[in-house]
Amino acid sequence: MRCGAATCESFHSIDLAWLGQRGRLKPWHSTKLTWSWGGEKTGSINILVQPDGLRLRYSFTADSGEKVGIKELVPFVHTATQFGGRRQWLTCIECGWGCRKLYGGRYFRCWQCRGLKYASQSEDPAQRHASRRQDREPAARLVEGYHHAKWEFPPKPSRMRWRTYRRLKQQYEELRGRWMAGVMGRFGVKA
Ligand SMILES: [Zn+2]
Repeated sequence: MRCGAATCESFHSIDLAWLGQRGRLKPWHSTKLTWSWGGEKTGSINILVQPDGLRLRYSFTADSGEKVGIKELVPFVHTATQFGGRRQWLTCIECGWGCRKLYGGRYFRCWQCRGLKYASQSEDPAQRHASRRQDREPAARLVEGYHHAKWEFPPKPSRMRWRTYRRLKQQYEELRGRWMAGVMGRFGVKA
């Protein structure tokens, strides 16, 4: 087994496509991913490709300064493609749905689990109680019910009016944009 070192100039994420394109998804291949910004290392993780999923091994520094070692298996899930092939996904351990990218913090989870909740919670308190909140939640609910393409907005449910659907879609884009801006600001990454 060979360990490859890779630097990903990005915020802390694990991207299935990124790994696949670099031949790092072969069975028992081990990759050490290092995230950095401005020459400073911001984190690293060891990824071992097992037949049933990605074994993640990393340490997380808690607010108390204590280092916590974390080991998790992110199971693979496969869906059939239109042309008889199959597409590989990562299963988010929190919500159980397939996704192509996981986002870190203490744990690596899908964007819905990390981002959408984060974006909803990080609003300033005045806004949180404004009526806009009621409008925003259906957008989140619609997306949460849609399993396999986390970066795409689901197709319109047949019973929903087009006007409602377009409004929800716009809210979703807003949430996503706000979250991306927040994350990139924190890690100093330029899009
Ligand atoms: Zn999730």
